[in-house]
Amino acid sequence: MSYITELMERVVKRNPGEPEFHQAVHEVLESLQPVIERHPEYISSGVLERIVEPERQIIFRVPWVDDNGRIQVNRGFRVQFNSAIGPYKGGLRFHPSVNLGIIKFLGFEQIFKNALTGLPMGGAKGGSDFDPRGKSDNEVMRFCQSFMTELFRHIGADTDVPAGDIGVGAREIGYLFGQYKRIVNRFEGVLTGKGINWGGSLARPEATGYGTAYFIEEMLKSRGETLKGKTITISGYGNVGTFFIQKANQLGGKVVTIADENGYVYDPEGIKGEKLDFLMDLWTIHRRPARDYAEKFGLKWVEGKAPWEVPCDIAVPTATQNELNLQNAQELIANGCTCVAEAANMPCTAEAVELFLKNNILFGPAKAVNAGGVSVSGLEMSQNSMRYSWSFEEVDAKLKEIMVNIYRKSSEAAREYGLEGNLVAGANIAGFTKVADAMMAQGIV
Ligand code: GLU
Repeated sequence: MSYITELMERVVKRNPGEPEFHQAVHEVLESLQPVIERHPEYISSGVLERIVEPERQIIFRVPWVDDNGRIQVNRGFRVQFNSAIGPYKGGLRFHPSVNLGIIKFLGFEQIFKNALTGLPMGGAKGGSDFDPRGKSDNEVMRFCQSFMTELFRHIGADTDVPAGDIGVGAREIGYLFGQYKRIVNRFEGVLTGKGINWGGSLARPEATGYGTAYFIEEMLKSRGETLKGKTITISGYGNVGTFFIQKANQLGGKVVTIADENGYVYDPEGIKGEKLDFLMDLWTIHRRPARDYAEKFGLKWVEGKAPWEVPCDIAVPTATQNELNLQNAQELIANGCTCVAEAANMPCTAEAVELFLKNNILFGPAKAVNAGGVSVSGLEMSQNSMRYSWSFEEVDAKLKEIMVNIYRKSSEAAREYGLEGNLVAGANIAGFTKVADAMMAQGIV
């Protein structure tokens, strides 16, 4: 049995009932086969065994009182996965599906994503099975305060810097920051995604969506194409989806779908102008279903289906893990789609990714495509350390440069190991080698 197969078996056995974590680890380890053949020191130093084990995992009770005076109890998580190249960094997800396995998969991905940005950030993730949907502002505030009342002792501007993810936006970051500051009596850059007049960075809200568009432009360039005139299908319409649409429009593309777990809207004219204005707040502020958009503008609502059946040039899953499966991938390819970019974390199943690569589809993996969000988080940390703020244009220019570099590093790493064009392998290899070399330099820790 090969070293990688044996290690993978051990990971599955040691982390039972965590299929998303297994999937994320499997994808990375598979890419590393040619790397360990050329560099046996990665085996002798035990760096692979160490990298798949989180440095620290924290699980805690989050009690709070709802508007009816009833006591509710949620579960909170923070998995501090790897601090070899910088303080732990990664978002918080509030969603009923959250469990330890999901947070571990996200934290593991974050290690390599953060390494790719070129900024000094380790990997972490956290969250809770709390569902912000249908909760009042006061309930969300009380929940966030209770969550931070435990989390504060594990984080800090030089230790671990959380941010948003699904269900955690500007409102939640505000409540979390307020409670942290109150407890520790220090105004510090302990969270990113903060409001603009209390330490936040310009262009942080836009960063993941804009970064996705910049990365797609780089992928297309390799085939002598651009976003201009391209028809694009996307799924989510939260922070990532809405700002991706805005940038794709600026670059001449046309986005024709949005979706949620119940179905999708088809808008053949493209989402722009007052329609995009309406969409911007629909989830991020109002947490309303996608169907509202169809009803408001008299558009077709397709119940119970995913948007991947709509013919497109480019498909961009922007919602959540495993939202695009093998059948969706087959349909996309049959309908002429030539490019798929993962704007969410691990949105394509392993079988779907394999099919895209086999069919020579330009495929951008999540770690690379959606790294724009955490990149501007890293820039927010720099600005906080300097007690200074850059202009929107400065941050946006740095973001673009980072995305172009991530594309370059990933495609070069793929080429170096004879896997030209395979950005999945390239991103994994480039991210891994940076972290692994740092871990080896720091001894057996
Ligand atoms: N949740 C985002 C991600 O998946 C952003 C993390 C951050 O800014 O720390 O990368």
